[in-house]
Amino acid sequence: MKRILLIATGGTIASKDNGNGLTPSIDVNILLDYIPVIRQMCHVTGISIMNIDSSNMNTAYIAAISECIMKNYNDYDGFVITHGTDTCAYTAAALSYQLVNLSKPVILTGSQLPIDAEGTDAVINLTHALIYSCEDISGVFLAFSDKLIKGTCAKKIKTKSFDAFESINYPVIATIQNSTVIYNNYTSKAIRNTGKKFHIETDMCTDIAVISLFPAIDLRIFDYINPSCVVLLLKAMVLAACLITLQNIYTDLRPAIYALS
Ligand code: ASP
Repeated sequence: MKRILLIATGGTIASKDNGNGLTPSIDVNILLDYIPVIRQMCHVTGISIMNIDSSNMNTAYIAAISECIMKNYNDYDGFVITHGTDTCAYTAAALSYQLVNLSKPVILTGSQLPIDAEGTDAVINLTHALIYSCEDISGVFLAFSDKLIKGTCAKKIKTKSFDAFESINYPVIATIQNSTVIYNNYTSKAIRNTGKKFHIETDMCTDIAVISLFPAIDLRIFDYINPSCVVLLLKAMVLAACLITLQNIYTDLRPAIYALS
């Protein structure tokens, strides 16, 4: 049987209503008690490394997840991370780069309702994540509803629906039907990386700005990106726009671009 480490970080899946709304507070071993059937499929060990709402996720917490995987890497065949849905796509993307030469599956999951709520999606999502973690695949993925999505391509698109995540610009890797994993023909099953040594790189730079351009944007906004401030505070600026918009406003942007380079 495969050995799987379940790493709990909080989120709605582990939340209880304490009278002031939902608060992450359910122990990782209680999460596992809700899916006794999984014990016939793999040996799961639970560890809780934080119990937070994922809107409070930060670079130090993400590094702590990577470090936990590094520390336990040789003792397990796969890893499942329970995480709040609001930012788990960001964590999945970050881990995809932090876990270098990964040759095992790392599967993030969460749920729209707490695990002890009536009609919850938590039991099915956690079960599916554990099934995926027993597959011979390598890389970071998000398992939600029945889908397995590449960690760098996941996006939360619905706030209430159980089918909350989409794979952006890349097909869904696999789905589960009757507990069987069905791979998408167009996505190559990830190959085990046996050649290079696994390690982590947890440094992350947060000195960036993301500006989303829209038709008729008031270009005076760029006057506020004072070049001297940019040098001090920003190492990069991401402009989200179609190419033609970028070409049209290139002249206005030049001072800011020079300041960054
Ligand atoms: N606010 C919660 C979180 O991201 C939402 C959820 O888990 O669905 O931690």
